[in-house]
Amino acid sequence: MNLNELRKEPHWSYSAFHCYLTCPLKFKFQYVEHVEPEHTCSCFPFGRAFHAALSQRARSGPQMKIADVKELFEAYFKAEINAVEHLVYKPKEDYGSLLQTGFDMLTVCLENWQDDFAVRSVEEGFSVEIPGLSKPLIGEYDMLVEDGGHECIVDWKTASAKWSPGKAHQDLQATVFCYARTKQTGRSPLFRFDIVTKTRTPCVESHYTERREQDFQRFELLAQTIESAMQRDVFYPNETCFSCSDCQFKTKCRLWHVRKG
Ligand code: SF4
Repeated sequence: MNLNELRKEPHWSYSAFHCYLTCPLKFKFQYVEHVEPEHTCSCFPFGRAFHAALSQRARSGPQMKIADVKELFEAYFKAEINAVEHLVYKPKEDYGSLLQTGFDMLTVCLENWQDDFAVRSVEEGFSVEIPGLSKPLIGEYDMLVEDGGHECIVDWKTASAKWSPGKAHQDLQATVFCYARTKQTGRSPLFRFDIVTKTRTPCVESHYTERREQDFQRFELLAQTIESAMQRDVFYPNETCFSCSDCQFKTKCRLWHVRKG
């Protein structure tokens, strides 16, 4: 089943857990009250179009040339931009500059492509149960590949700068996705982040990581704690988090204490 189908039923996702951990009040606006965002950052349509173009390249194989991938990206990006209301570009960005950035990023990504003969699946959805939770955990692997006799989950990420060497080992998404895959197959996979920088001269780097049983136990407790807090209406603003500067619920957030009172 694909992710859009899975999303139709109540569920948990990595993004929801990450949102609660970043700011519980933002989580409430987004996932409980489904508040209309005040604006949408251009990075979201950009990221979706970039992923869609790479997914198509992964499915099609080497016969799909860079020019074809760029053309596809342009079509996806235009459609994504047109579908968004209250779009906001970052300073010094506009549609044309982002399109060129996307072309440059795709070029470096495809010049370093390493998976043509190892792809097992692309955009594969998953749904697994977490003990003690009322809803399943759903998500989608960007790509599953064969890597030296091991299964490896590949996740494409656009980033403003290169990742530090240890970042992948701390990342919650790798834990969540390895947890789900281990539940599905009984074997813990490798996880590889392919980080493509959104810089003047883009570059791509692969960061490998793995997770163990104790990471999964810790994640289960974290997930149970978040659901329990949510059921007890524990939603508060985290005003020191990195999300505040471009939060799409700023106006509503400012009235939080008034509504509470
Ligand atoms: S402005 Fe900051 S504290 Fe308020 S909801 Fe958004 S992220 Fe949370």
